[in-house]
Amino acid sequence: MELRINPNLARLVCSNSGKEVPAHGFASPIGLCPCCPRPGKPVVVEYDLQRVRAEVAATPLGANGARGPWRFAPLLPVLGVPEEYAADVGGTPVVRHERLSARLGVEVLLKNEGTNPSGSFKDRGLAVAVALGRACGARRFCVPTQGNAGVAACLFSARLGMPGCVVYMPESYRGCIYHRACEFFGGEVRFVGANIAAAGRAMREDLADELGSGTTVDISTFFEPGRLEGKKTMGLEIALDLGPGAFPDVIVYPTGGGTGLVGIWKAFEELAGLGLIDPARTRLPRMVAVQSANCAPVVAAFAEGLPDVAPVVSQGTIADGLDVPGAIMGHGILRVLHASGGTAVAAPEEAIAAAFTRYGLEGVNGGVESAATLTALEILRADGRVRAGERVLLLNTGTQLIPLSRGTWYHK
Ligand SMILES: [Zn+2]
Repeated sequence: MELRINPNLARLVCSNSGKEVPAHGFASPIGLCPCCPRPGKPVVVEYDLQRVRAEVAATPLGANGARGPWRFAPLLPVLGVPEEYAADVGGTPVVRHERLSARLGVEVLLKNEGTNPSGSFKDRGLAVAVALGRACGARRFCVPTQGNAGVAACLFSARLGMPGCVVYMPESYRGCIYHRACEFFGGEVRFVGANIAAAGRAMREDLADELGSGTTVDISTFFEPGRLEGKKTMGLEIALDLGPGAFPDVIVYPTGGGTGLVGIWKAFEELAGLGLIDPARTRLPRMVAVQSANCAPVVAAFAEGLPDVAPVVSQGTIADGLDVPGAIMGHGILRVLHASGGTAVAAPEEAIAAAFTRYGLEGVNGGVESAATLTALEILRADGRVRAGERVLLLNTGTQLIPLSRGTWYHK
């Protein structure tokens, strides 16, 4: 099988200005936009929905017989991956949790992403990003990471038989499970700086020549459009598996870079554009971003009614995935919160730790970031932003095994 760009892909646009971004025949990898001040803003993919509509009229969306993200092939940017590449990615069930529902006075639904092959929802985004980058001529990938994204990037590079992904991690990650897992999947791991931002800066300096020539591609969060498209499949699954009549009222999403939050909403918008859901008759969920109170740039920007997210200084959090002091797609995250009638919540560290303990005692497969969604729901119930009896989906982004092996739960 040969990787190829999906002919349904109509154009690339800047997420900030809405201007079309030249695709150059997809002969070189897609990076940030050229229209906004350097380094540019995220580029997003738009589909020819007329074409997609014709395709899904013949074979309903999600019913093409494929497993994994390519079950939704008409709405993915790249086609032609072999079955072993991503058949085990995604396909996570939404499960109602009775005891948590009774405790919180709402219907609690959990979508558990910990069953993905590298243990987190990052597999969805990186599966599509690596295939898309490869289809556009990338020979190797690089990524700064605080954990799961790096592992997923190495996994899918290995699955395409590419040279190992170059992974930059903060110094303190030396020897931790992420380091070992990246190397297990053939990655080349380098340690720089105190956090992901410093590691990313070092990466772009060290690899400036390779990145400039397009042979090595930066697959950082939102630096290319594939990760968003992969994460979008969570929204497609929620919509198609639950059905429009059973949509949750609220989706609570642990927000670092926010790819999943923006992706889930993009899925709903595309389904509406295809006529597969009717927003006039189906109330779309209110999207809620939860962050650690120690690192809450999105919450601060939302509270102040700003159009974009300004970086903050992180005070450190036990939730590695939430230790993201800036958000390059901040404007997109805020747009989704407003468009959906949602909100943003800062979860105190002690409450996140307590929620993680609660998850364990309830037998829930979820990491510390996932537990933050439970904390957020407790806060939203207490202040009335979520009402009794509402249906609330908590997105469990990864397995508890990684934070437990990291020991961050006890040490940070
Ligand atoms: Zn732009």
